[in-house]
Amino acid sequence: NVVSGAPTLADFKIESTSVPTKESLQNDQILVRTLYLSVDPYMRGRLSGAQDSYVESFVAGKTLFGLGVGVIEASTSPDYKEGDIITGDTLKWECKFIANARGFTKIPASSGISPANYLGILGMPSFTAYVGVVSLAKAKAGETILISAASGAVGQVAIQLAKARGLCVIGAAGSDDKVEFVKSLGADAAFNYKTCGDLTSAIKKAAPNGVDIYFDNVGGEFLDAALANMNSFGRIAECGMISQYNATEETAYRVKNLIRVVPKRLSILGFIVSDYYAKPDYANFITEVSTMLREGKIQYKLHEIVGLENGPQGLLDLFEGKNFGKLVVK
Ligand code: NAP
Repeated sequence: NVVSGAPTLADFKIESTSVPTKESLQNDQILVRTLYLSVDPYMRGRLSGAQDSYVESFVAGKTLFGLGVGVIEASTSPDYKEGDIITGDTLKWECKFIANARGFTKIPASSGISPANYLGILGMPSFTAYVGVVSLAKAKAGETILISAASGAVGQVAIQLAKARGLCVIGAAGSDDKVEFVKSLGADAAFNYKTCGDLTSAIKKAAPNGVDIYFDNVGGEFLDAALANMNSFGRIAECGMISQYNATEETAYRVKNLIRVVPKRLSILGFIVSDYYAKPDYANFITEVSTMLREGKIQYKLHEIVGLENGPQGLLDLFEGKNFGKLVVK
């Protein structure tokens, strides 16, 4: 039931079964054909069997579920009709499934935005970038922001939101191609953290005047190096620590520079994006990013893998940096 260390394909089982049909619908239910499923790092936590997490754990033998987009094939609910496109965070990792008609949001047919983008640029990772950069770090023109996993689902938006606010943006990513992409999004400097040598020196070289905001996606050694480069009153938007999600008691990285928090008066701002949907921040995010989209002022890279059966490998790939952009399963 509980995965320790790096998950493998042996932790997943793919099953074929008969497809549900509209004849099986009970009152107020929908038959959904899955279009896209989101593959996200937080899903690793759902494999840990944690009872005290902010998300429900997966249960061995039961179908995985998560963020996704689907089309309604049949409905006994007055709220949905055949052809409606819906999104939500309880889509089953199944080609077709029956669900109670609650907890989903309809995507307007006339939006002109592709369904997969509701998992990316207008979805959870993009809002996560907004919460970190805008709501929590309160980024201001002239400051320097450092962003790790900068080419990823969250990172690529964090770069563009910070750039739009007049910050100096430094990105780090795990391949030269990703570094070029990060620069193409407007980053003032970017480096490959796998080949740059000493991380503290690499950050210092990219940000000679120090870092005011560190948007942390990776934790571990990179966080340590960022701490060593923070300016007084700096803020760390603590979004995620992907380098530690597969760590065990033995392999976990112990941060050495935490003491800098005191003399530098740093704020470490841990957050979970789901706490912000009910706040005005969400409407502000949708307004800002959809305007940027309409005006062609924001880009977004999706990494699409095809076939539900390839979903588990996609999840494993996130921890190896094999995705280039927001990972979705079509
Ligand atoms: P992503 O960046 O699209 O994909 C994960 C990337 O992390 C990989 O492509 C890889 O990029 C990098 N990575 C993997 N293992 C690493 C390691 N050992 N050291 C350094 N980098 C590593 O994923 P995402 O969806 O945008 O998520 C980014 C972070 O945000 C994650 O930590 C995630 O948990 C967090 N997050 C938090 C919230 C929240 O509410 N707080 C919401 C969404 C996401 P490279 O090739 O560049 O190494």
